[in-house]
Amino acid sequence: MVDRSDNRRASQGIHRKVLKGCFPGECTQQGFALGSQERTVVYYTCPISVSPFARLKETSPAMAEEKVKDEAMQIIGMFQILPRLVVFDLDYTLWPFYCECRSKREMPSLYPQAKGILSGLKEKGIEMAVASRSPTSDIANTFLDKLNIKPLFLAKEIYSSWTHKTEHFQKIHTRTGVPFTEMLFFDDEDRNIKSVSKMGVTSILVGNGVTLGAFRQGLTEFTQNHNSMEKNKQVWRDKYSGKPASSETDKD
Ligand SMILES: [Mg+2]
Repeated sequence: MVDRSDNRRASQGIHRKVLKGCFPGECTQQGFALGSQERTVVYYTCPISVSPFARLKETSPAMAEEKVKDEAMQIIGMFQILPRLVVFDLDYTLWPFYCECRSKREMPSLYPQAKGILSGLKEKGIEMAVASRSPTSDIANTFLDKLNIKPLFLAKEIYSSWTHKTEHFQKIHTRTGVPFTEMLFFDDEDRNIKSVSKMGVTSILVGNGVTLGAFRQGLTEFTQNHNSMEKNKQVWRDKYSGKPASSETDKD
């Protein structure tokens, strides 16, 4: 006899099986045995017939990437002022390892939200670049190829350097023509963030790879930096044109 709770379990992909020879409360490989002394009822999750509800909860990597991409595009849509170029470090920013510790023969993987964010930026027409101090540019380029993300980047500066990436950014600026103040940069090393932000690039330190949270923070700080720069420009314009300084009410 099947009771109502069995129907509820079945709707979750959990099925009932009557076994002999087990004792009530005994753990089995499939589930947890319940029942009377005469017979034992085992509830198990069917590996084949999973309910539609349970199936909705499952997300393939492609679905997860698409979801992150949609969220990244929503975040971009919240901002009126956007960077012209977003620059990413590689090791521990886009992927969770140092290139020089890996072999070209391996198949690398990105941080969970990295691909969706890159796809969102591409969809919105925002250019991207790479600035990495990896000493093994051959491995880095092989991995970018294997991950199918190499064509996303307008410029790729990958070489070891003591300049904490100021040289990388000079080259990216020369190649793309984008001013430093129109760039947004993500990196996991504080020394790179400090030196590059002094050039005028909005620079965001990531703790565990690039995430939607870091991405939103980056766009927020970019807008704040842009607004304060515009205010400063206005102050200088007023100063040299002989006009009185803007009043408090004009500032916003
Ligand atoms: Mg790094």
